[in-house]
Amino acid sequence: MESNVRVRFAPSPTGPLHIGGVRTALYNYLFAKKHKGTFILRIEDTDQTRYVANAEQYIIDALHWCNIPFDEGPQKNEKFGPYKQSERKHLYKKYADILLEKGWAYYAFDTAEQLDAHRKGHEIEGKTFIYNWHNREKGRLVNSLVLSDDEVQQRIHSGDKYVIRFKSPQHETLILEDEIRGTIKIDTNTLDDKILFKSDGMPTYHLANIVDDHLMEISHVIRGEEWLPSFPLHSLLYTAFGWKSPKFAHLPLILKPVGKGKLSKRDGDKLGFPVFPLAYTNEITGDVSRGYKEDGYFSDAFINMLAFLGWNPGTEQEIFLLEELVQEFDLKRVSKSGAKFNPDKTKWFQQQYMQTKSDEELTDLFLPILAEKGITSEKSYVKQVVSSIKERAIFVDDFFGLSSFFFVTPTTYDPKNVKKNWKQETPELMQELVVVIASIEDFSSTNTEKIIKEWISGKEIGFGKVMQPLRLSLVGKLAGPHLFDIIAMIGKKETIHRIENAIKNI
Ligand code: GLU
Repeated sequence: MESNVRVRFAPSPTGPLHIGGVRTALYNYLFAKKHKGTFILRIEDTDQTRYVANAEQYIIDALHWCNIPFDEGPQKNEKFGPYKQSERKHLYKKYADILLEKGWAYYAFDTAEQLDAHRKGHEIEGKTFIYNWHNREKGRLVNSLVLSDDEVQQRIHSGDKYVIRFKSPQHETLILEDEIRGTIKIDTNTLDDKILFKSDGMPTYHLANIVDDHLMEISHVIRGEEWLPSFPLHSLLYTAFGWKSPKFAHLPLILKPVGKGKLSKRDGDKLGFPVFPLAYTNEITGDVSRGYKEDGYFSDAFINMLAFLGWNPGTEQEIFLLEELVQEFDLKRVSKSGAKFNPDKTKWFQQQYMQTKSDEELTDLFLPILAEKGITSEKSYVKQVVSSIKERAIFVDDFFGLSSFFFVTPTTYDPKNVKKNWKQETPELMQELVVVIASIEDFSSTNTEKIIKEWISGKEIGFGKVMQPLRLSLVGKLAGPHLFDIIAMIGKKETIHRIENAIKNI
């Protein structure tokens, strides 16, 4: 089925993509897929002063890791391309001219110093300076609404710096519809005349964004709440051009785990969690920021967590694979109020996803970690190990700590456990146990358990007297999975070797 749904994620490459940005991309992706539409990546790099060279690649890599690929974008199905605004520079002036012609925009020649003086003057009077209807034609501001056409042309030709400003209407009430927030009413008298174009030939964000959304046939603009204040201007721009406006949806902020305000990198640094999907190296300072990928998170767990930051399915279900999110996602269920970020919940999702991964997949992730430690083991053995420990792991990086005794003979023994459980009579008991173990033919977990337990019962001593020292001998501490599973896995020879080692070394 053909769909007219076309949405875009339009980041400015000013640094790494914050998780708020990833969530915007995710909601756009889910919305597009749900409606069999197109998800577009557009790089909004008109503000060259804030441009960061490695940020664009970072954004592309991040979307790739999150498994939310764009259908159209830089170097991909460039049907409406280019998708980088700096490569579309030549395109925007024409549109600024259309607005000038229609009377929806005007030239302004006020210098930065003049504007600064106005601002300061207002401040002294306890007021805020806004460039708009109430002062633009009073003669104190220098623009084409007050200058003669000749003078305007003369200034432009002689190379005077200018900007083109939007002429916000006066005494009107705008009625805006937001897919999440409903109807919003705005008094146009409160709007300022935003700059659309500068004499250096570059459009501002506002003009480029609207022109591109129109040319790229965007049907829905789904973006962060920080763009809500731009909504009236954007809506007016569609009216001014006489274009059909896309639908708008402004997503709630992602809030700090504690206190008020937007989640920042500083919160992550303070409380010990990343706010970026991938680690990022600042090109200038060399500072490295942590990323979820490098911290060991599965991308599907990360995405599931993000999906719930501002949206819920209206049921108790929390675990959703990407395809399920696509099915369930609905802008109507996105909340208006901010979503508090919870680092513990992120871990919880990771833990849940760990249990859904196959032993095969986890083994493939564990093998290189073992190889790095110089441990070579049969894949089938490693797979068994993984299956016995994954329940207690959150990250693949936890595996070795939970399973080292499956691969290496312990050389140290937890002193507290030794003190409590390794008694005077223990070495003798362990010697006898070695004999019992040596005689076991069927070395399966259930059979060794049966025989050893029978032997303990026959001696009429508590199970702990044997089981705790045995665990200490095999694991080095009183931890780990079912003891007889360990015995069966490491085998008879190694079991005996470890008990004898313990007798010698404790
Ligand atoms: N370039 C803007 C940003 O950095 C895009 C805002 C929008 O989606 O309209 O978020």
